Amino acid sequence: MKKQIVLQRGLILGLISMMVILMSGCFAGAITDEPYLGEEVSESSAFQEQPRNNTAEAEVTKLWLVDRNTALPSSFTPSALTAVGESGEQLIEAAAADYVKMTEAMKADGVGDLYLVQGYRSYEEQEELYSACVQSFLDKGESASRAELLASYQLAKAGQDEHQTGLAVDVSISSDLTLSEDFRSTDQGKWLARNSWRYGFVYRYETTDTGLKEPWHLRYVGAIHGQIMTERGFTLEEYLDFLAQSGQYYFTDSQGVQYVIYYRSSLVENFRNIQSICGDNQGHYIITCFV
Ligand SMILES: [Zn+2]
Repeated sequence: MKKQIVLQRGLILGLISMMVILMSGCFAGAITDEPYLGEEVSESSAFQEQPRNNTAEAEVTKLWLVDRNTALPSSFTPSALTAVGESGEQLIEAAAADYVKMTEAMKADGVGDLYLVQGYRSYEEQEELYSACVQSFLDKGESASRAELLASYQLAKAGQDEHQTGLAVDVSISSDLTLSEDFRSTDQGKWLARNSWRYGFVYRYETTDTGLKEPWHLRYVGAIHGQIMTERGFTLEEYLDFLAQSGQYYFTDSQGVQYVIYYRSSLVENFRNIQSICGDNQGHYIITCFV
């Protein structure tokens, strides 16, 4: 009798696993941080039982919005950080691998070197930087409220900084790692504007929607979303709004592969041929499927 119950339980677990595998398609890993993906997480708790996979973490977080209105908790640390070449900086593994490919392609095109100034930065490091910035204005005789305001134009507050995701980079053309306001008009900056999406990176902080101007800052969103954002001139905020309004969006990538991208607040539908599932850090799912 006991054996029969165990067998039945095994069969049910097997069926659930099969359903998860069918639902997930080529998405091989786990949705690892379900509190940021939304409230309805019954399916994602099943995903969590699968082995944690570095590529999958980038898949899950690559569209997370992190800005003045949408913060990360102080407890969030990416689990799959890895060193990027010889830079001493770290990124989530998929972003690190694509960053290296991007700089190699840039070199092969004879454009020149690109130096990684900053990759992952922890909540605590950002908190220290921000406090030091506020203090520098206080030291210049600014009032406390004005020092806060002036600092907020220069730096993101802790939790509102994309570097905490392990998906953002600050880059320089100089070996002394100077961050330049003129970066976009350099050969490297122009090359990135034309090509960075092929490696999943897009310029960020381009408009006032984040309140920051950092011409040297790029964010990893993956090649599919990077191509759409670049072709249509969307910031991440605008792209997520566009997906929310569209509900589903058909897209053909540079290789001629067709996708449909769904924007949903739950995973109850039976999605087919899933390429990836990610969250937006606002309780929604972006499900990319092969057509
Ligand atoms: Zn940055």
